[in-house]
Amino acid sequence: MAKKGRSRRRPDRRASDDSFDRLLSGWRRTEVRRGSEWSVQPVGPGRSDKPYTCPGCGRAIEPGVAHLVTWREDGVLGARADLEARRHWHSHCWNIF
Ligand SMILES: [Zn+2]
Repeated sequence: MAKKGRSRRRPDRRASDDSFDRLLSGWRRTEVRRGSEWSVQPVGPGRSDKPYTCPGCGRAIEPGVAHLVTWREDGVLGARADLEARRHWHSHCWNIF
């Protein structure tokens, strides 16, 4: 009896959660930094209402200041965990990271 190889469908890794989709709906881009893929989403002026600490320089990003939100695309814990671990950066700090 001949065995037939069954072709398995690869599951789509993309999560389909409402808030997740909404966060991703902006003009996001993917960049490679230090061998990893990162999602980079700009936050426009006036779009944030609390201060963040930039991991690049350790200084505050004042509320309302345009900056970038980044998160890893290739984390082992999955897209949602990556998104929850997102970081806020000054645009210029991200560029020299
Ligand atoms: Zn910074």
